[in-house]
Amino acid sequence: MTAQIIDGKESAAQLRSSVAGHVAWLKEEHGITPGLAVVLVGGDPASEVYVRNKGRQTIEAGMSSLEHKLPTETSQADLLALIEQLNSDPDIHGVLVQLPLPSHLNADLVINAIDPAKDVDGFHISNVGLLGTGQNAMVPCTPLGCLMLLRSHLGDLSGLEAVVVGRSNIVGKPMAQLLLNDSCTVTIAHSRTRDLASFCRRADILVAAVGRPEMIPGDWIKPGATVIDVSINRIARDGKQQLVGDVDFGSAAEVAGAITPAPGGVGPMTIACLLANTVTACCRAHRLSEPEGLTL
Ligand code: NAP
Repeated sequence: MTAQIIDGKESAAQLRSSVAGHVAWLKEEHGITPGLAVVLVGGDPASEVYVRNKGRQTIEAGMSSLEHKLPTETSQADLLALIEQLNSDPDIHGVLVQLPLPSHLNADLVINAIDPAKDVDGFHISNVGLLGTGQNAMVPCTPLGCLMLLRSHLGDLSGLEAVVVGRSNIVGKPMAQLLLNDSCTVTIAHSRTRDLASFCRRADILVAAVGRPEMIPGDWIKPGATVIDVSINRIARDGKQQLVGDVDFGSAAEVAGAITPAPGGVGPMTIACLLANTVTACCRAHRLSEPEGLTL
């Protein structure tokens, strides 16, 4: 293996420590405790694990954590009423509704009911518009974490050719926007892209956010490229369960200059960025200066 490993666990630990430092400062200097409310509708087991991890790490960083677990059959009106209540609660600085929602609920309507200033997931249309026009937005946590890893590994990204595979609203599109804002030349690929390999081979920065195990082999990687693998896919191999990314790590690591492992790459950065966004939202709500190193 020749590629340098981009250690997301280590970077996330540093970011969480920086968040905890800002939280301590907010408490001591201003008597403010940042608060994050997470709303979970239904009992999806993966979502329950995410929400539990978010709650634990929020408390470990010194913030207050509020969890609202609602039954699957919760009505749209009741969910919107809860969001309204959280929007007007001065002790809550971040509101996150765990996705996916049960199918009878309209996720767009629910997300757009969150006060954009408290939208720590960065999914509200106002934040999407602010990001798209290069203004001060709440930036979606997973792409923000990817950009932080890229900046800390590569420094200035200006002029680099970036390919993002995946065009979802929560990962692919905001990732492409962030890379464009950092003056990369950006291509977004998706399931209809013809000859995906040829696009990937041009990339100085390759971000894979698809959800298909090991679909990108080493011979699709430009020698020396920086590879960010967003996915964690569960597969059965040799009779055992295994977690793998969208990139075939073994062959890619022979060619790439640097690569995130999956797991242990992007995943830990996502929750750390959620905590960072909550502190940023708290500082903005209280008209305090933007905390350094927690956002773009
Ligand atoms: P998504 O909404 O399912 O989007 C997947 C994207 O991949 C779509 O744009 C799709 O294209 C594209 N795609 C599917 N098959 C393809 C193919 N054969 N070639 C090229 N593109 C293809 O998923 P998502 O929410 O963006 O998440 C992407 C991955 O990141 C998932 O594995 C998810 O679990 C992971 N994720 C990780 C974190 C984390 O914290 N680490 C957070 C969020 C998501 P079309 O648009 O044409 O259908």
